[in-house]
Amino acid sequence: MVRKASEYQSDVWNDWCPGCGDFGIVAAMYRAFSELDLPPEKTVIVSGIGCSGKTPHFVNVNGVHTLHGRAIPFATGIKLANPDLTVIVNGGDGDLLGIGAGHFVALGRRNIDLTIILHDNTVYGLTKGQASPTLKRGLRPKSLPKPNIQDAVNPISLALASGFTFIARGYSMMTEHLKELIKKAIQHKGAALIDVLQPCVTYDNIHTVEYYKKRVYKLEDTGWNPIVEKIEERDDKIIKAWMKSQEYDEKIPIGVFYQDPHTPTFEERIKERIPSYHVTPPARQKIEREGKPIIDEEVFRKVFSYYIVKTE
Ligand code: SF4
Repeated sequence: MVRKASEYQSDVWNDWCPGCGDFGIVAAMYRAFSELDLPPEKTVIVSGIGCSGKTPHFVNVNGVHTLHGRAIPFATGIKLANPDLTVIVNGGDGDLLGIGAGHFVALGRRNIDLTIILHDNTVYGLTKGQASPTLKRGLRPKSLPKPNIQDAVNPISLALASGFTFIARGYSMMTEHLKELIKKAIQHKGAALIDVLQPCVTYDNIHTVEYYKKRVYKLEDTGWNPIVEKIEERDDKIIKAWMKSQEYDEKIPIGVFYQDPHTPTFEERIKERIPSYHVTPPARQKIEREGKPIIDEEVFRKVFSYYIVKTE
């Protein structure tokens, strides 16, 4: 029997501010997980620091609330050690595109089968609303003493340039639409990004629900086809998606911008070198024989000599 959405909801007290867009994201996740019937024991959510970092606490699957900016490397290790798992990263714009930007780019280059849910609210909400990497230059939400002096990063354009093979934008207040995007991203084989527009009702009085209501429209309603049907079309589709990603002012498109099912995942690239990778990935390899660790003592000493404390 398919698990209900409510079965994915944990009983941990949720302290996000009332009205925060994060509630829409987690609600869409519960419903997407239910419709995909994701086994909790085979699903992992990894987060960094920020309001979004609390997400794993609120979902009844495995979770790691890790270091600022380091959710993607943690998720990479989990996925590559055990490629049978469904691994999802929830991170803020500051976390993933500021301190974690290098990891974001590296994930695109590798095309590891991870789903990134980017809580895009243009501010560092947990630390009282400083400008995040997605806040445009010249804007001044009420939390800033002066207008933002830096230019913004466009997550869709950066993902295209980095090599992500599934790139979408959702809006946290349109949970039915967002749920479908999350399902598609999880089902896609490769690095998937969903940039989720998420109002921070406490610190950002510019990107409000009213603001998005006037601007957001669905790409699919315009006949947009994001799929790279043949490999020869890839460059053309990337250029078209990049041009569409620049539309972000009076009108803001949401939906799937780009999907490439042809580029091999990192896991497939590893399998080319190590044919047994999927049969015995690191998580299924033996680490002991007859009660003793299987390890080359000399290699161990060389690698860990710095940490070995002599007690004699
Ligand atoms: Fe949401 Fe902003 Fe409150 Fe954080 S500070 S929980 S992003 S409304």
